[in-house]
Amino acid sequence: MNHQTRDFEGFPPLKIVSQNRRTLAMRVTPAGIQVLIPADLDAESPQVQAFVEASLEKLSGQSLAAPPEQLSVTDLHNRVKIWSERIDVPVKRVQVRAMRNKWASCSTSGTLTLSTDLVELPMNLVDYIICHELVHLRVPNHGKGFRALMSCYLSDWEDRERRLARWIASSDQKVTRNQGHHMT
Ligand SMILES: [Zn+2]
Repeated sequence: MNHQTRDFEGFPPLKIVSQNRRTLAMRVTPAGIQVLIPADLDAESPQVQAFVEASLEKLSGQSLAAPPEQLSVTDLHNRVKIWSERIDVPVKRVQVRAMRNKWASCSTSGTLTLSTDLVELPMNLVDYIICHELVHLRVPNHGKGFRALMSCYLSDWEDRERRLARWIASSDQKVTRNQGHHMT
């Protein structure tokens, strides 16, 4: 993997990352902006430069100067506590560990497992994932009952679900993640 860091005035550090991929993409992380390019493209090529310029232009309306602080594992535990009280489901154990292709999973015995990668997500998407998992302790599928409960606790959950999908699409996750669907 090739890294190149550049500074653009008014923006957090911009890093060009060469990857085994077909398309150009950009992601905004707490540490700065990453532009992901196919390995066979030169970072100095007009195509990449044009993509960077267009992307920065698009982003300039957003407040990038102060990117949100990255969440900590303690933050994740705190959010689980809040949501388990809200939904009124007991969570016996919470573990945060590396997970290959899921954001989270929940067992019928009340163990909630969260991916360490959650700390990279915005809080509102973390809340969506935790709420989704805990609602599964009430309804193990994604049927009408599940949807009704989600709407009750998180009225804009469908919008958050779409935003999570977009976040995944714009990130460089090697494994495609789905909201783990996963009662075990
Ligand atoms: Zn689910």
